[in-house]
Amino acid sequence: MKRDFGSRAELVAYVKAEFPESLVHGEEVSETRGGRKAAEALLEKVNPDRYARSRNFLSGAVTRLAPYLRHGVLSLGEVRRKALTKPNHEKLVNEYAWRDYWRRVYGQIGEGVWKDREEAKRRWREQRETAELPADIAEARTGLACMDGFVTELTTTGYMHNHARMWFASYVIHWRRVRWQAAAKFFLTHLLDGDPASNNLSFQWVASTFGAKPYLFNRENLEKYTDGKFCRKCAREKDCPFAKSYEQIDQELFQ
Ligand SMILES: Cc1cc2nc3c(=O)[nH]c(=O)nc-3n(C[C@H](O)[C@H](O)[C@H](O)COP(=O)(O)OP(=O)(O)OC[C@H]3O[C@@H](n4cnc5c(N)ncnc54)[C@H](O)[C@@H]3O)c2cc1C
Repeated sequence: MKRDFGSRAELVAYVKAEFPESLVHGEEVSETRGGRKAAEALLEKVNPDRYARSRNFLSGAVTRLAPYLRHGVLSLGEVRRKALTKPNHEKLVNEYAWRDYWRRVYGQIGEGVWKDREEAKRRWREQRETAELPADIAEARTGLACMDGFVTELTTTGYMHNHARMWFASYVIHWRRVRWQAAAKFFLTHLLDGDPASNNLSFQWVASTFGAKPYLFNRENLEKYTDGKFCRKCAREKDCPFAKSYEQIDQELFQ
């Protein structure tokens, strides 16, 4: 295989020609740069204190390290040691620990990550489940500016913020009652950091098949952590399924 290229455009053209099957899911190429140099530059910039204070906001100081960790360009031990040299690192190290935990569970159960680990903790009011991801969700045509925005970012850049992953997973599983495996496959197809351990077990945590209760959110929560950027321009602003209290949502969705 060719290893040296005059430009990024040349590299992209080469990969497209050599791996035409990669174009089945879209032609967009992420701006994320691969390789050790890019990873080290990003690691230097990580600010655990700003991370701890802002990580739940879409505009927060998240690290973007996951693709490098996923593909072994950086090790978990190395990023942890680096964090420990900086102030207020507990939250960040805690998140690295989640990754470590999911990975250890995966090491024990392997393909078992595709099966419900436990019974779901609540029963939906309407039990009808869908095995496939509906086209309106996968093609960003739900009319919900938030969900469509998340999918567009995922399919064009290979990235989705952690909080957006949680909202999206919750919407797909609990509001639309799609089997979590369908959404997990969709994520693994597009995420640059796609990894069956963190991905599937996080989906199971949202679904409550590997967690104490279903993860739910409401519009107030989403609006706060997105600085209202989706709700302001949403065609379904008046018919928002999330514009309710947690109690109302709970009653509407679950028995
Ligand atoms: C439904 C769902 C699916 C997910 N799928 C994946 C996946 O396929 N691959 C993946 O690497 N992560 C996954 N995550 C975890 C997390 O969302 C990503 O690791 C994170 O958003 C990647 O962006 P970042 O590097 O900027 O993370 P940051 O927010 O900057 O976090 C720093 C690092 O901590 C680790 N981390 C943070 N949050 C988590 C978490 N909840 N679980 C495990 N590790 C975490 C990651 O290694 C991440 O790079 C998923 C989470 C959810 C809710």
